[in-house]
Amino acid sequence: MTSVPAHLDTTSRADELIALDERYGAHNYHPLPVVIAEASGAWVTDVDGRGYLDFLAGYSALNFGHQNPELVAAATEQLGRVTLTSRAFHHDQLGPFCRELAELTGTDRVLPMNSGAEAVESAIKLARKWAYRIKGVPENQAEIIVAGSNFHGRTTTIVSFSTDEDARAEFGPYTTGFTVTPYGDADAVEAAISERTAAVLVEPIQGEAGVVVPPADYLPRLRRLCDAHGALLIADEIQSGLARTGETLASAHDGVRADLYTLGKALGGGILPVSAVVGRDDVIGVLQPGQHGSTFGGNPLACAVGRAVIRLLSTGEYQQRSRELGAHLHARLGELIGRGVTEVRGRGLWAGVEIAEGGPAGRQASEALAERGVLCKETQANTLRIAPPLTICRDDLDKGIDTIAEVLAR
Ligand SMILES: *Cc1c(COP(=O)(O)O)cnc(C)c1O
Repeated sequence: MTSVPAHLDTTSRADELIALDERYGAHNYHPLPVVIAEASGAWVTDVDGRGYLDFLAGYSALNFGHQNPELVAAATEQLGRVTLTSRAFHHDQLGPFCRELAELTGTDRVLPMNSGAEAVESAIKLARKWAYRIKGVPENQAEIIVAGSNFHGRTTTIVSFSTDEDARAEFGPYTTGFTVTPYGDADAVEAAISERTAAVLVEPIQGEAGVVVPPADYLPRLRRLCDAHGALLIADEIQSGLARTGETLASAHDGVRADLYTLGKALGGGILPVSAVVGRDDVIGVLQPGQHGSTFGGNPLACAVGRAVIRLLSTGEYQQRSRELGAHLHARLGELIGRGVTEVRGRGLWAGVEIAEGGPAGRQASEALAERGVLCKETQANTLRIAPPLTICRDDLDKGIDTIAEVLAR
């Protein structure tokens, strides 16, 4: 990799490309000033030829690294056969994809979609229809209990129950039927749950909120409350799932099985959006033809890439890498506590690092890391979210941690 530092190159293409984005693109993101042109494994290269370690991995969409050879081969092979049929016809990838994903997750049935938000929307629709048809909740009275500081996507219904004012304000009128309880507080769920409750929807670990791990008895208590009140437990594993925490599903750490799981991000192998709701037969089974759908959901290319992702996960290798490298990551980041860092949270190769007062703000820290060749991003004002690809080698992981220590240690 040739390396011309951007600040020495007065004709940097990066500046021109950023200016185009600023001028013609919507300003709904505030990216770091790095313009990526190529990537491989845990590394990306910018338009000026400079290499960076990717410590964010597309918020876990790139669990298997950039340009993963097996995933690219599966996509390429499928590109040469058939990419889209619409769901008006069957195709030869859909049935195998659904069976393999059900087997991987220990569930009965699969509803394929595209984006994560669509999977969550689909789970909400399933829970409501199930509540009316099976549980017997009077029409239009179903409630879904959610957690504060949640992140489930950006649709109008989902932002209706967001507690993040940036995500929610001025997008009303809002969808009703959601009750917000503090994350980690099973007593609050106990107080809110009733015969009208269709479901409790939670992230087993809240990624966007700063990789927040709930108390150990939270998910088990939610499971018992749902059982006692005939409500569904829905685990949004879009970011926490598919080996990120060292288990195929993060809820397994707490010994909890949900009735529905939403999956996304890594399910598309970092190649294309692939999401799904997986779960109980009697819940996903409520949908009849015409009641829900998507032109691209379950398309042949998505299914072929998804199947290759499932093959990788079936080996258990990535879950194990996450556990081993994660233990190392947490041990090393833990050494920074009291030295510029107040707290390190997370499981497996996933960490939220709370920067101490007097240190750089999250944004400044992300910028300083990028200048030193490590890409990660703040989530919340003073939290760095660290989620390298699970394929990263230990030397590269150490290189990134060294850089984080350089920027944060006091
Ligand atoms: C990213 C994310 C979503 C939304 O997924 P999109 O593909 O961006 O729509 C939903 N839930 C969780 C937990 C996520 O991390």
